[in-house]
Amino acid sequence: MRTTAFSLELQRAKRILTKVNALAPTMRAMSDQKLKAQTPRMQKMLKDGKSLNSLLPMAFATAREAARRVLGMYPYDVQVIGAIVLHHGWIAEMKTGEGKTLTAALPLYLNGLTGKGAILVTPSRYLAQRDQEELSVLYKWLGLTCSLGFDPNDETGNQATVADKRKWYQADVLYTTGSTLAFDYLFNNLASRPEDQYLRPYNYAIIDEVDAVFLDGANSPMVVASKPELQSNLYQLTDEFVRSLRPETDYRRSKNHKSAWLTHTGVLRAQKWFRINDLFDNQHRELYRHISLALQAHFVQQKGHDYMVDDGEVVLLDEANGRLMRGMKVNTGIQQAVEQKEGVKISENRQAVASITYQGLFTLFNNVAGMTGTAKIAESEFINVYKMKVVQIPRHRKNIRKDHQPRVYLTTSEKLIEAIKLAEKLHHQGRPILLIAGSVENSEIVSEILLNRGIPHNVLNARNEANEAAIIKNAGQRNAVTVSTNMAGRGTDIKLGRGVAKLGGLAVIGTEMLDPRVAEQLQGRAGRQGDPGDSWFFISLEDNFISQNSSPVIRRYYRRHIKHFNHKAKSHRLYNPRILISLLLLRDKVMVSQRQTRARMYSYENSMRLERMAFYELRDAIMNAKDYRMTALNWMSHGFDVILKQRSNWDYGHFKAAVNHWVTYDDAQIPTDLNYQDKSALKDFLMHRTSQILDQIESSIADPKQIDQFYRSGLLKAMDDAWVDQVAYLGYLKTLVQPWTLLQRNPMAVYHDKAYNRFKQMINDIAKETIRNLLLSTIDLNEDGEVVVYFV
Ligand code: ADP
Ligand code: MG
Repeated sequence: MRTTAFSLELQRAKRILTKVNALAPTMRAMSDQKLKAQTPRMQKMLKDGKSLNSLLPMAFATAREAARRVLGMYPYDVQVIGAIVLHHGWIAEMKTGEGKTLTAALPLYLNGLTGKGAILVTPSRYLAQRDQEELSVLYKWLGLTCSLGFDPNDETGNQATVADKRKWYQADVLYTTGSTLAFDYLFNNLASRPEDQYLRPYNYAIIDEVDAVFLDGANSPMVVASKPELQSNLYQLTDEFVRSLRPETDYRRSKNHKSAWLTHTGVLRAQKWFRINDLFDNQHRELYRHISLALQAHFVQQKGHDYMVDDGEVVLLDEANGRLMRGMKVNTGIQQAVEQKEGVKISENRQAVASITYQGLFTLFNNVAGMTGTAKIAESEFINVYKMKVVQIPRHRKNIRKDHQPRVYLTTSEKLIEAIKLAEKLHHQGRPILLIAGSVENSEIVSEILLNRGIPHNVLNARNEANEAAIIKNAGQRNAVTVSTNMAGRGTDIKLGRGVAKLGGLAVIGTEMLDPRVAEQLQGRAGRQGDPGDSWFFISLEDNFISQNSSPVIRRYYRRHIKHFNHKAKSHRLYNPRILISLLLLRDKVMVSQRQTRARMYSYENSMRLERMAFYELRDAIMNAKDYRMTALNWMSHGFDVILKQRSNWDYGHFKAAVNHWVTYDDAQIPTDLNYQDKSALKDFLMHRTSQILDQIESSIADPKQIDQFYRSGLLKAMDDAWVDQVAYLGYLKTLVQPWTLLQRNPMAVYHDKAYNRFKQMINDIAKETIRNLLLSTIDLNEDGEVVVYFV
């Protein structure tokens, strides 16, 4: 049992609750009409300079009373406390079934009053749609607009027009998913005309299931991909090489098997194999990257756990929830490396045009809050990285669920047999059972054993995500048996069927050792709102979690006992205290190491975020420029400086070559008497020539609007091309900085250094490319009389 520590934030929220409660009778006495009139009244007060905080009690009391009338639900005191916490931009820890959806409606209403937008972010489209449908009635009744951030019938999300999106984002209250929000942000910043943009400044957001979004989602950025990259046969070559490696001698794996690298011997072997002198030389950057990918594919990625081969196609699994990650998310090359390992067709590698993580996205808001059933356990990370405090909200009803001690066995088969035995026993009593498997593969094994025993059940894993919510909803009915992977169905409440409470409620049976936060989340599926329920975990020393992170004590114990293990004998539970304590320690150790991995990601993202913001600012400035020719000339002038700096001594021949390369194809009449020692004279010549060419182009286009478009597209193309390279470079850089760890240099420092230098270089590249784009492009008119520019 965990006790709730004294919390200042909670005390403060409780004091505010008193004020909300004090207003309840007044609200109750109001007619519908008067209650509705509260909205414009408070909007006016805001305009007159009242603060949101001072309006909070009245707004919450209003929305609360309206919820009673419109939805038939009156938010409990604990929900109002949660709502206050959310308004302050903290994380409200509220258990499953406590009613977080309704809780969020109060701060969304309050922040919606400002007209600057309040957004609720859920982990899935299903949840966004469900919650929006349920609550939009309330906002509308109160006179606020509310919309969904996507079209639920549009699976791909590609159909929405700019006008649609603008309308959605204009709503006072918006329900959407994290990934929709992220992709909208990226696409909004890829637009080439201001008319194609639809976002307004981000204001207030509440993130539902915030730990799933921030922590489990920390390692997978959202990526917009573009044109396919040239396919390289390096995948095949490095795959062959990696297959020849000897463990420990040539390569090593981290204890948790999350990374693999070449030893010194391995590096020498690679140099011999590929007949090169220095693997770390810059010219072998790509080779080195592909070796790293092949190492990962072979020694880190496990079939069934990290990916599946489905119909001759490799599908990576989202580690956090065992779901398929189809589509745009992955593009680091690991997909292709795994495809090579599995001998299936290699898919096109597409280049990242833009990418962002949730961490980067939500720093763009003025105020961000979160809610989830499991946050306290990761509080330090929420505070350090996101500057968000976690406040545990008391439950509405006491929790009477029984969480049993984990049962530990030596082998996988023992634990599965015992888990299913228990399930069978409870099933015969009619109790609903939720059986959790640690991977898609195991969920299929469990399902097969159940089938053999004639127990009807539903399977919820990556393969049938579509019915997820429906299945989970029914998981609380009498006799229901549901097999599920870790997080499938998160956010869907399991309500108990008739008579089930009398039987003891839902039984959650975990069959694998899990990250404690995930385990807590799963336990929380049972015992909601004071319901009875139980949770059991069956684990074995062969569990991935343990074997990948094993401590010497456990390893020795396992080796000693597996020798004498008799497969026919009855399974027996381990009580050895040393082992049980070691398991607890191991769990903590893993949490720390996962936190460190994420900390590295955060740090990468931070550098990326700064560059992204700087880049988008430059880009916006171009898009919204008043005088395009002036803007272009400024960039080009910088470009000429860069070009001129490339040589210390210019002469006629070199200068002519440069002019032909950057400025014009026809032999420019370069005066013979130019002073090549005087760079400013050279520059003057170039700028003069540039003006002439631009004059010519402008006169051939004639229409001022189209002239603007010519400049804008030339500039933006230079920017976007350079940014694509930069994003790709930052991606490689993460793998490239690894060798420095061997040389005792801090890889993060190296990363930030290199990332920054490359950014400065990118600006120079943009300037140079702008010159080429504007001076060397071919211009044509199409049938509609529009200017078409063919860039070199
Ligand atoms: P959570 O997200 O915290 O797991 P939900 O928001 O899904 O919980 O709510 C669980 C259930 O409780 C829903 O069916 C919801 O309608 C109901 N509920 C929430 N708040 C109240 C309330 N104040 N009175 C009655 N029912 C409520
Ligand atoms: Mg919920």
